[in-house]
Parts: sequence; C-alpha cells; structure tokens
Amino acid sequence: MTLNDLKEGQQAIILKIRGRGTFRHRIIELGFVRGQTVRVLRSAPLKDPVVFRILDSEVSLRRAEASQIEVLVCSMEEAREYAALKPVRTFEKDRCHGNPQEDPLEKKLDSSSVIEVCMVGNPNTGKTSLYNALSGSSEHVGNYSGVTVDAKTAEFVYKGHRIRLTDLPGTYSFSPYSPEERVVMEQLLERRPDVIVNVVDASNLERNLYMTTQLIDMDYRVVMALNMYDELQASGADLQYEYLGKLLGIPVVPTVGRTQTGTGALLDKVIDVNEDRDQTVRHTHIPYSEEMERSLRDLQEAIWQDPWYDNIYSSRYLAIKLLEGDTEWIDRANVLENADRFKQMAEAERNRLQKMYGEDIDQVFADYRYAFVRGALKECYRPAALYTRRRRSPHRTCRHGRAVRHRARRLYRTRERNALAVRGRITARLDNLLTHRIWSFPIFLAFLWMMFQATFTLGQYPMDWIESGVEALAAWLNSVMPDNILRAVLVDGIIQGVGGVLVFLPNILILFLFISLMEATGYMARVAFIMDKLMHTIGLHGKSFIPLIIGFGCNVPAIMATRTIENKKDRLITMLILPFMSCSARLPVYVLLTGMFFGAKAGTVIFLIYLFGILLSILSALLFRHTILRAFDSPFVMEMPPYRWPTWRSVGQSLGTRTMQYLKKMGGVILIASVIVWALGYFPISPEVSLPEGVSKQTAGLMQADAEKLHMENSYLGRIGKFIEPVIRPLGMNWQMGICLLAGISAKEVVVSTMSVIMDPAETFTPLSALSFIAFVLLYFPCVAVFSAIGRESGSWKWAAFTAVYTTAVAWIVSFLVFRIGGFFL
Ligand code: GDP
Ligand code: MG
Repeated sequence: MTLNDLKEGQQAIILKIRGRGTFRHRIIELGFVRGQTVRVLRSAPLKDPVVFRILDSEVSLRRAEASQIEVLVCSMEEAREYAALKPVRTFEKDRCHGNPQEDPLEKKLDSSSVIEVCMVGNPNTGKTSLYNALSGSSEHVGNYSGVTVDAKTAEFVYKGHRIRLTDLPGTYSFSPYSPEERVVMEQLLERRPDVIVNVVDASNLERNLYMTTQLIDMDYRVVMALNMYDELQASGADLQYEYLGKLLGIPVVPTVGRTQTGTGALLDKVIDVNEDRDQTVRHTHIPYSEEMERSLRDLQEAIWQDPWYDNIYSSRYLAIKLLEGDTEWIDRANVLENADRFKQMAEAERNRLQKMYGEDIDQVFADYRYAFVRGALKECYRPAALYTRRRRSPHRTCRHGRAVRHRARRLYRTRERNALAVRGRITARLDNLLTHRIWSFPIFLAFLWMMFQATFTLGQYPMDWIESGVEALAAWLNSVMPDNILRAVLVDGIIQGVGGVLVFLPNILILFLFISLMEATGYMARVAFIMDKLMHTIGLHGKSFIPLIIGFGCNVPAIMATRTIENKKDRLITMLILPFMSCSARLPVYVLLTGMFFGAKAGTVIFLIYLFGILLSILSALLFRHTILRAFDSPFVMEMPPYRWPTWRSVGQSLGTRTMQYLKKMGGVILIASVIVWALGYFPISPEVSLPEGVSKQTAGLMQADAEKLHMENSYLGRIGKFIEPVIRPLGMNWQMGICLLAGISAKEVVVSTMSVIMDPAETFTPLSALSFIAFVLLYFPCVAVFSAIGRESGSWKWAAFTAVYTTAVAWIVSFLVFRIGGFFL
C-alpha cells in the first residue's frame, strides 16, 4: 500500500521510500522516513496534490510522488505506541540504536515491507549462483554467457526482513541489443528495486566496473558483490576492496558464489543500505568533460520541468541516453510532454559535441567511464605479476647456492599464487586441443557419440530395474483386485502408460548429465566457437548452436535460449529449425525401437538419428535464409569463459529439477493421455465371445485374440485410427502407429506411453517401418509446449503454425523416402 492509496483522515506508518536521487533525498529531508507517522489531511480540488501531516508540519505531495512511499495503515493508538518506541539515533556510533528484532513494531513493519532487490551484472559473473545461495532456489547455472534469459524472483526472510530477490540475465550495458538484455531494463523499471546487487567478476574488474558506472549514472542504491573472490585471491592480485567501495560510493562485499561464501554479509549490507545506515553509500557522479556536463545539465533541467517526468529513472541518466541517441531511451522519453523539444535539444547538443570531439558521442561517454574505472582501479588494485620467467631446473638452482635457491623458491611461490595465470594456461592448453583447427570436430562428434552411447548402454541397467518394478506392481494389482473396469483402467491404462514412460527416466537423466557438463565446464562456448564457421555458411552464427544443443534436452528452454541472439531474423530461423533437434522426450521411442531391432548398434543408430536431425535443421536454415528470411550476417561476439570444474551442487540441482519436471509431466499430461487412449480403446464394450464347446485350447486362444483384435478395431480408437490410416499407409505404418503419433502431439513421451497401452511393438513393427516411424517422430509437429513457446517468443502465432505445418510435411516426406528407399535394402 502506498501513501497515495490512503483516504482522507487516515493515518499510516511509513515503511519505505521508493525512487531515488534528488526526489528521495528531498522527501527524506522533509521527514518522510521509515517508521514516521503520516496522516492525510486533504486533497486539492482536482484531487491532486494531497496535503499530509508529518512531524507537526503540513506537506503537499503530488499523487505520483505519494505513490512512491510505501505505508502501513494503523490506528491512532498504534501510531502513538510506535512513536514511543521509535528508535533513537545515538550519535557516538552514528548508527540506528537497537537491533530490529528487539523492536516489536519494527517486526510488524518488516512483515509487510518487502525489500526489492535485483541482481545485475555482466554475463557469467555468478549472479545465478549467488541468487541460488541467497534464496535457496535452484535456478540453472552454467559457465557461459546467456544461461539466464528470463527474470526469476524469490522471496525469503532474512533476520526478520522480507526480501524479494530477482535474478536477471547478464548484460554489458543498459542499451539492449538482444531480447534477454531488454528483460533487464524492463524489470528494473517495473520493480523499482530498493537495492541493486551489482555482481562483479573480481578477476575481470575493468570491464565489470564499466557496468557499475552506468548504475551510478542511473542513481540506484547499489551493493557490490565482488564475486569470484577466490579466483582473485588465487591470482595473487591485490585489491583493497573497501577503498574501492569508498571511491565508488558503493559498499563492496567479497563473495564466492560456488561455495556460497559471503552471502550473509551481502544480505546484511543490503539491509543496511536499504535502511540508509551504511557509511559507504555516497551519491557520486561519473565526471564527464565540462562541455558534456553542460549539455547534460541543460537537458536535465528541461526534463525536471516536464510535468510528466515521474522520477522513476534518473534525469541525468535519461539526459545521457538522449545525448547518446539511444533509440530505446528516446522511445521511453516519448511519454514526456516535451519529448520533441528534448529530442531536438539532445540532437543539437550531440552534433555540437561530436564536432568538438571528432567522434561519436557514445564513444566519448564510454571513454570517460572507462577512464573513471581505470582511475579508481589504479588507486586500489595491483594486478598479479605474471610469472613469465623461464623455469630453472632445480639442479642449476642448487649449484648456484643459497641466494639463487631462495629466489627460485620465491619464484615458485609467485607461481603458486599465480594460480590464475596457471589456470589461464590450463584453459589455453585445453583450448589448443578442443578448438583445434582439425581435431576440434572429431572431438566434438566423439563427445556426442559417447553421450548417446552412454545414454543407451548405461541407462539399460536402471531401466531394467524400473521395468521389473512396474511389471511387479501390475501383477500384484492383477492378483489382488477383482476383474472390473477399475482394474482395467489402473493396470492397462495408467500403469502401462505411465510406467512405459517412467522406465526411460534414467536414459533422459544421463543425456541431461552430459548437457549440463558441457554447460558447467565452459565447453559449450567452445562448441559455439568452432561451429561458427559452419553455421556461417548457413547464414547463422555460432551462438545459434547453443540453443540447438540445449534442444537435445528439451526444445522449450532452447527456444528461450535464443533470446541471446541479437539479430531478429537469426533468432527466428534458430527457433524454426529447433524442433528438428531431437529432444529427450523422443529418446524413449528411439531407445525402445532401436533396442528391439538394432541390438548392440543401438547407441550408434541413436547418434545417427540425432545427426540426421541436425542435418535437416541445417538444410532448413539454408532454405529459410534464401527464401522467407533473407538477411545480412551479424557479427559473432561471444565471451570465452575460462574452463571451470562443475560443482556437484549445480549439476545435482539441475538433474533434480529435471527429474521433478519429468515426474510432474508423468503425473499430468502423460497420465491423462494414457487414460484417454485407454478409454478410447476400451469403449464401446463389445459382447463377450462365447467359445463353442469342445475346441482345443489353442483354437480357443486364437479365437480370443481374434476377438480382441476385432474389439480394438471397433473401438473409438480403432475408428479414429482407421480414419487417419490412409495418410500414413504410404509410410509403412498401420493405424496403431498413427494413433501413437496423434497422441504424441500433446507431449512426445506420450508416443511411447500410447504404444504400451495399445500394442506390442515387437509384433507390430518391422525394422523398416520402425525406421520410418523413428524418422517421423524425429521430425513431425513439435509438442504443444514447443508450439506455444515459439508463438510466444517469436511474438506471432503465425510462426508457430508455420513450424507445425512445415515440420510435419518434412516428416511425411522423409518417412516416405525412408520406407520406399529402405525397402531396397532391408
Ligand atoms: P551468471 O551468468 O552471472 O548467472 O553466472 P552463473 O551463476 O551461471 O555462474 C557462472 C559460472 O561461474 C559457473 O560455472 C559457476 O560455477 C561459476 N562461479 C560462480 N560463482 C563463482 C565464484 O565465486 N568463484 C568461482 N571460481 N566460480 C564461480
Ligand atoms: Mg545467470
């Protein structure tokens, strides 16, 4: 609730002042501070502004401003009671007296006041690791840029304070180039964080602090998490971080995201800053040149006078962005009443400055920001002396006596301290191999082959266990339950269907394990790098390859991952070809059928199926690039992170999340689909076959089977199947397979669950029809979730519909070819 929501005569306690900068300072000076009582006296005849009573004075505020003040409504008595308890500032320590837990009303205040905190920083600095550590969440962590593409929010209580923490995608600046970067700015404007946690990679300060200068320009209240502090220490570099904090006016807390070190101190700082108790916080400006400052001042003053300027973002920052000619911010400024005048002013000033400096003004701004960063670092940072000297042999060292030995030891110690340099060396060595001109590709292919081989062979054991468990359960139910419709739906519908999918959980987890290892070590970025050339020939770039690999796991997050691609057409193409990346839900079909028909070669066949999917996606990309989505190449800019060891926590967490998702899916869509398929196959009930007297047991069995077949064909399912059969008969498939494909539209796992409900694959398939079926499953209609993801992310359902039609058409053609051509060989 904000001050703006109060009615006349109502009384409230102030919880929090949102907003920043001048407005915030002014209003605090007027007495609007946390814990203060305020009463609504009256509003102006036109409802705005409103007069409030605070600290024995009357203050009038505009409604827009009042809505920046969060309050808690209370009775007169409560207010009086609170006034008596109000903490007093004790000046000897210049801190708020007493701690929050001891203050009963403070507690009450805190329960309704939420501290809004956002994590902001460059990509791959450990934001998500810290976010997980702080909030106990298990969001996805990986060692390359672009892992987080969406905002994630968690709420928790820390020392009696309710904190709402938002993890954001990484950015280098607030001028968005790609959709994920746009998310950051949108969230900041929407959430209006009380405190920003600026996560900084301590081993890459200069570039990281560049982002901090923009936060300073934006006039946010910031706490800096100096993350990867372990790497800084290991490198032997020396940073006086407290001093750095003083220089920037931002408190700095060293943290290590992967071991969750320093998180408590970080939260303490956040709370201190939120309550204006921190001594380091100081309002600073990045000093630009005198001429630039003059232009800024002029613009800023004009902005202040605009009646529609609502103080949500800093006027200085807006002025800077207008001056830089940032289109995003020019759009934002359009809501102001005098937007056109500002734009003209900015343009005139921009031209004037550009003439003066002889280069683009945003470049000049960047230069000044970097100069500021370098200046600060020069005072408090000493980089590690790189160990460059040649290594001496111990033998020689000994011969030259003590002094030399001593020096060698010292050198050795520097070298040890230079772990960063050493790690750099490890990274360089690994890169020599993994991004080698020739070897990189075989290595990558071998990795993929190993992945699918492991998926199949290692997965076999737990799969057998689960399978026998499911069978035992079905047998047990069959023995204890009477033979009725309930048993039929439970055993033939649910257990067959859901159990038929459950057995593939181990395979899927193994696949995900490999993908998350690629992500966690940093190999993913290398794969993007080596594929860039190849992707280039189809008009995409290496970055597009990452979503494709993620697509092996699940297409939905893969489609989200395309947000890192700046160019819109590139992004769209990547999205459109993604469904050909065979996702893990299709894996059960392959495992089942290849295991049945290809025996020991199954792993290799699965590998080839995936490669075939990649091939088709490449061909499709080529096709789109030359027909509906022509565009120029966009440059490939991507950071190569150092290789890092995966942490058990993050790999374990991501597997845990996968397992949960899979189980949920089984309890949801797969369960429902199984029951529906079962019911469609069960009804309408056919009359009992009465066996004539005196037939042999064998004949009786045959007659029974015939009757069942007849029943199946007469069932609703059979009728639907027969209806679609003509379409798929040319592909060598019968109506049961058609039903499986149809049901698979809901989710690809349902293909297998349906199979286990309605048929015995070993009898229904031939090797050839199995191949044709596999090809169809690989390529046809993405599941409903992917369909909607494409619609959402491309911003148009047209593209989702296009994908559905295109993929299904391709699937039909390919299956047809497989069946016809394969017929000559098999
Ligand atoms: P984000 O992109 O900023 O969200 O970063 P992530 O949280 O995904 O982490 C990026 C990589 O850095 C992962 O491989 C983490 O394991 C690793 N990492 C995170 N924090 C630290 C840290 O403090 N020290 C070290 N050495 N590695 C870290
Ligand atoms: Mg992240």
